[in-house]
Amino acid sequence: MLNEKVALVTGASRGIGRAIAIALAKQGAFVIVNYNGSMEKAKETLELIQEAGGVGEICGCNVADFTACGEMVKDLVAKHGHIDILINNAGITRDGLLARMSEEDFDRVVDVNLKGCFNTMRHISRQMLKQRGGKIINLSSVTGIIGNPGQANYCASKAGIIGLTKSAAKELGSRGITVNAVAPGLIETEMTEKLPESAREAMKEQIPLGRSGSPEEVAGVVTFLASEAADYITGQVISVDGGMAI
Ligand code: NAP
Repeated sequence: MLNEKVALVTGASRGIGRAIAIALAKQGAFVIVNYNGSMEKAKETLELIQEAGGVGEICGCNVADFTACGEMVKDLVAKHGHIDILINNAGITRDGLLARMSEEDFDRVVDVNLKGCFNTMRHISRQMLKQRGGKIINLSSVTGIIGNPGQANYCASKAGIIGLTKSAAKELGSRGITVNAVAPGLIETEMTEKLPESAREAMKEQIPLGRSGSPEEVAGVVTFLASEAADYITGQVISVDGGMAI
């Protein structure tokens, strides 16, 4: 159980982040539902948490903004006194073939997906070091492990998250802070709705379990990694991909 724990979930206004926020709240955590543009959707996530008997609040912040992340963390610590769980879930895609990809599309994806993880970890790890404990879970992707045509920017950001996760695990382990990554495969959310049906079907053919996954199936693994049951697990990349990356 995660009673008394304060958890920040970035990008929790929909999709996998929403499922993680609800799952952590069901385990008793106080959940901070972060969003960037979608305040109404974040409110819906909070309502779903409350309907499930949980507690939390919403918190707008662009994770790509280092200074804004620092202010968010300062405010949260002032209000709650501690942050025990950080889930770096916020992410975007700007797909295109490498030869035609704009500098802006490369930078934006890396800024949100990879630098966003650094920004929150940089500020929250200082608090966790003082607390001498904490759990950080970063959302990577199967594509950060095996690559994907048309997603050089996204795959680079997700591979970068793996290096960031392992380095942070080595730095922070002696203070009881664990840092792990989860690498989902094809999960049914708004992000993957954008893919052409032919691309989705081609991906499914590469999945031994023969189907896409649900946000709740990712949330279950994240919740486990945030729990005491995972106290001796750090620096790992756990694939939740139906076997796609085998
Ligand atoms: P999604 O449905 O598109 O949701 C993305 C979330 O990120 C939204 O809540 C969005 O909130 C938030 N976000 C975007 N930019 C942000 C920013 N600058 N600051 C704060 N929040 C921001 O995506 P998803 O499919 O649930 O994916 C969640 C995570 O899992 C991502 O990191 C994604 O790369 C990863 N993943 C997904 C899949 C998949 O198949 N779906 C597979 C592998 C990995 P706003 O609308 O408020 O901006």
